[in-house]
Amino acid sequence: MDDIQLIDKKGKRKDSRGPEDLRPIKIEAGVLDNADGSAYIEWGKNKIIVGVYGPREMHQKHLQRPDKAIVQVSYSMASFSVDERKKPGQGRREHEISKIIAEALERSIISDQYPRTSIDVYIEVLEASAGTRCAGVTAASVAIADAGIPMIGMVASCAAGKINGQVVLDLDKLEDNIGDADLPVGYIPKTEEVVLLQMDGHFTPEEFDKAFVLARGACIQIQELQKEALVKKYSQEPEENGTDDNGENKDDMAEGGVLQ
Ligand code: ADP
Repeated sequence: MDDIQLIDKKGKRKDSRGPEDLRPIKIEAGVLDNADGSAYIEWGKNKIIVGVYGPREMHQKHLQRPDKAIVQVSYSMASFSVDERKKPGQGRREHEISKIIAEALERSIISDQYPRTSIDVYIEVLEASAGTRCAGVTAASVAIADAGIPMIGMVASCAAGKINGQVVLDLDKLEDNIGDADLPVGYIPKTEEVVLLQMDGHFTPEEFDKAFVLARGACIQIQELQKEALVKKYSQEPEENGTDDNGENKDDMAEGGVLQ
């Protein structure tokens, strides 16, 4: 839909961002008491919480792997996460996103240390505003690290897209709805491995290259926020990071990496 102007002649988008700007991102690690690891992310208007359990014994024996742990992901959007009440339960889109996120995370975990076990990752989207799979996998990686599960490196994720024929970073909801293309990328900066790559819409080969480089660069930037969130949590005194001297929890949360 080229008729709706999403970016002006000066390169300014509807929300005042430039073509290569991210939406504001805030990540907190260790926000849930009952999960082994957890994280909360606000990315633009997206709000997502992730809880991780495991590695724990895989009860469904036929799914067990004798050589490694398997990663099971449940991505779901709350009924109140979008403008019009979403039908409760997981639909096809949520199953697909769960699968691609599991595959991306599996690449990042040193899973052969935990044969026959499962690492269960629950991604709950509280508010959705485009880019939830990228925000979800980014937060999930922080939650896995928070659970103390050994990793090769964390996965950071971001999309680039095309609006009014121009390649831009990190589409918001309006841009996603009426833009020309979207390219979510998941990347492990430490190993330089691409672990998630999807494409929606049409790019020329040159545009694809530009979008990919832009998204990958943003992943490197986002990885710093992931690390900051973990450093923030683990550098705090017990009293500050949500537990007092008796191990009882307090209401205040550690505030981690923020990109304004
Ligand atoms: P992502 O959130 O990873 O960009 P999609 O491209 O499938 O995934 O979705 C884009 C956005 O569309 C979502 O972030 C959400 O705001 C909205 N959306 C997705 N599914 C629904 C739904 N069932 N009802 C209303 N809005 C939805």
